[in-house]
Amino acid sequence: MASSSRAMYHFKVVLLGNSGVGKSCLVNRFVKDTFSPDIESTIGAAFLTQTIALETETVKFEIWDTAGQERYRSLAPMYYRGAQAAVVVFSLVDAESFAGAKAWVNELQKHGGSDIVIALAGNKSDLSHVRKVDRDTAIEYARATGCFYLETSAKTAVGVNELFQQVARRVPKTAAPPRR
Ligand code: GDP
Repeated sequence: MASSSRAMYHFKVVLLGNSGVGKSCLVNRFVKDTFSPDIESTIGAAFLTQTIALETETVKFEIWDTAGQERYRSLAPMYYRGAQAAVVVFSLVDAESFAGAKAWVNELQKHGGSDIVIALAGNKSDLSHVRKVDRDTAIEYARATGCFYLETSAKTAVGVNELFQQVARRVPKTAAPPRR
């Protein structure tokens, strides 16, 4: 099928998670395929777009990268409301950030849309020698809460495209009407 005749979906996706877990680096890896270790902290939220092709449709992501700092927390509902998907990020080398991710999942399940797709991303998988969050623990938590879990490295790119591909596949295609 020619790409011009594919159904085009627009999905709003929000990234949530503690400060420093790698949200901005993940978005940069996905959108620009770059990794800059000294990326500046996000203030409030940053917005980027990226389009990917699935087998029979094209998905344009409108990605909101929120700041993880506590002082911006009250702004989060503004970004996750109306979102088809949320990527909740924690760092595999920071156990506290996993607790933070659980709090976000909890909040999304209470206050996000009823069919919001929640992806749980364990980032910094390249730092396996200092890992603090066990893979099975994260899988079990995701299973129990109905999220899906993937491990990523914004640094090496492992899992990053797959994460967004999986999100695109899981969002019900009825949630956002196709635009051509
Ligand atoms: P944010 O506050 O969640 O947006 O986090 P950033 O994207 O600003 O990243 C915080 C720090 O973690 C930066 O110093 C990044 O270089 C580092 N970082 C982000 N992703 C990775 C990764 O996959 N592997 C490693 N080793 N470091 C990462």
